[in-house]
Amino acid sequence: MKFISDIIKSKDITVSFEIFPPKLDAPLGPVMDTAKELSKYNPDFISVTYGAGGGTSANTVKIASFVENELNTTALSHLTCVSSTKEEIAKVIEELKANQIYNVLALRGDLPSDGNFPNPGHYKYAYQLVEELKKSGDFCIGAACYPEGHPESHSKSEDIENLKRKVECGCDFLITQLFFDNSVLYGFLYNLLSKGIEIPVMAGIMPVTNAKQIKRMTKLSGASLNSELNILIDKFGDKPEAMKQAGIAYAVNQIIDLIANGVKGIHIYTMNKPDIAEEIMRSISSIIKG
Ligand code: FAD
Repeated sequence: MKFISDIIKSKDITVSFEIFPPKLDAPLGPVMDTAKELSKYNPDFISVTYGAGGGTSANTVKIASFVENELNTTALSHLTCVSSTKEEIAKVIEELKANQIYNVLALRGDLPSDGNFPNPGHYKYAYQLVEELKKSGDFCIGAACYPEGHPESHSKSEDIENLKRKVECGCDFLITQLFFDNSVLYGFLYNLLSKGIEIPVMAGIMPVTNAKQIKRMTKLSGASLNSELNILIDKFGDKPEAMKQAGIAYAVNQIIDLIANGVKGIHIYTMNKPDIAEEIMRSISSIIKG
């Protein structure tokens, strides 16, 4: 099955992984090895992130192509638009087609620190990229959503109105920003349904295995740490192995609660660490059989 939308229809529960390309001058071998390891756990797809400023973007299609064509695992190629011209995006879309990549996560990317749009007259928001992909080929299109609201938006309801417009441009599914409190996701899903957003939503799960890294990630993403996780970080943050074990256990509990409450898609931010994905998959192996 080439489209993620078809995979979702055929399964009770999907589990997928996210990986990121190395810095531009670093070799691709290690991330290819990571993808190979991850593919052994039979994920429903592996997504490959895209460097917003063009930094690691050149490698995204190469890695996604390796996943799709060499590992025979469905690839989801991320693509951001705000720092590109329309001509540059058209070129990447042609590369995706040439590499038989059928699934794209259409993203805006973060604005530069001055908050200005870098390419006036080109892309401002992800919905424009969704429109472009829709008319450029036969793609299954995913997009991002934010259970706690996108950091730039003035209110959660305004963010959901913008999300609705993006979905109506042709999104097939959504993946959430990381979150640590499942009740926040349940409230968000309720709000989506009440606004008529009915496409599948996959829950983005970040195992907290490194205290410093998670503080940086939460600052960047706007996701908040809850008291339960803060206690774990206070207690184990300076003991790397203990933090890893506690973080994996927290992620596993989060996933089990989500599935028990009817969430059907789990997307794991692996941070290119197959051993963490392996432990999570072992702990949920019977649960995800449906
Ligand atoms: P949009 O949907 O365009 O929304 C951005 C902001 O604009 C929101 O506040 C929204 O409410 C507002 N908005 C939307 N439409 C309108 C409108 N018509 N008028 C006014 N306001 C509007 N970044 C990367 O660089 N590379 C990646 O690979 C990557 N992968 C990601 C994967 C996931 C699952 C997630 C959740 C995020 C990812 N990001 C990635 C981060 C993402 O690029 C940033 O969060 C970015 O700031 C917003 O992208 P978006 O696609 O959600 O933008």
